[in-house]
Amino acid sequence: MSNCTVPGCPRTAPDGVHACPLHADELRAWLAELPRQAHLLAEFVEPAGRPRTARLGGTGRAHAPVPVDLRVLTLLGPGHPQPPSDDPDAGGTVPIRALLDGWAGRLAYDYPAVHRDPYGTAHTQPCEAYRATGGPTITGRCTWLTAYLPYALTRPWIGDLHQQLGDLLARIYDFTHATPHTHHKTAPCPTCDVFALVAVDGRWEITCQACGHRLEPDAYDQHAAHYLRTIQEPA
Ligand SMILES: [Zn+2]
Ligand SMILES: [Zn+2]
Repeated sequence: MSNCTVPGCPRTAPDGVHACPLHADELRAWLAELPRQAHLLAEFVEPAGRPRTARLGGTGRAHAPVPVDLRVLTLLGPGHPQPPSDDPDAGGTVPIRALLDGWAGRLAYDYPAVHRDPYGTAHTQPCEAYRATGGPTITGRCTWLTAYLPYALTRPWIGDLHQQLGDLLARIYDFTHATPHTHHKTAPCPTCDVFALVAVDGRWEITCQACGHRLEPDAYDQHAAHYLRTIQEPA
């Protein structure tokens, strides 16, 4: 058992990996969400004069074109892969694809690919598969990283990846305002008894918005089943 490498996380990680189950799950959810967010973000750089930017009725003239935000262009641009943890305080916006390329490259470099030559001798070398599969698209990269996530979790840099992906998504949400949905649960909080338990897309745990109590989905299911039995019992 070692500590979860996500900064500030108090939990321990299971044997052989460097992230707690909650943060591993969050990474998986972020990689699934990123392509959709990038797609939403792309709408912000489409040419001005689209119907939704025009004033309907009224004076009959369109709004001035919405100025293109250079930060959005940068996020969607090609850029250059940055080695993980390289100058994290540079303050610049790292393009989505560059960040994913950098981490895919890092993972592929660490991943031991074993192949046998015609004489049957095994050679271990960094995995180069990421260059061929998935392509350089954001979706392709996310799919590839998800496939290799079980291995990535065994690397001590997984906390850095978590932090950079989290920062990236937060930056994108600033533009798209498409934050993950909150789902209210039917059973009350087992600690404070208030009906304030919520599940948030991409988060593993269920949290109480009243008292901050957290519980795992399994624990909630048991609690909810018990609660249901209690209210169904004849008085
Ligand atoms: Zn953690
Ligand atoms: Zn509570």
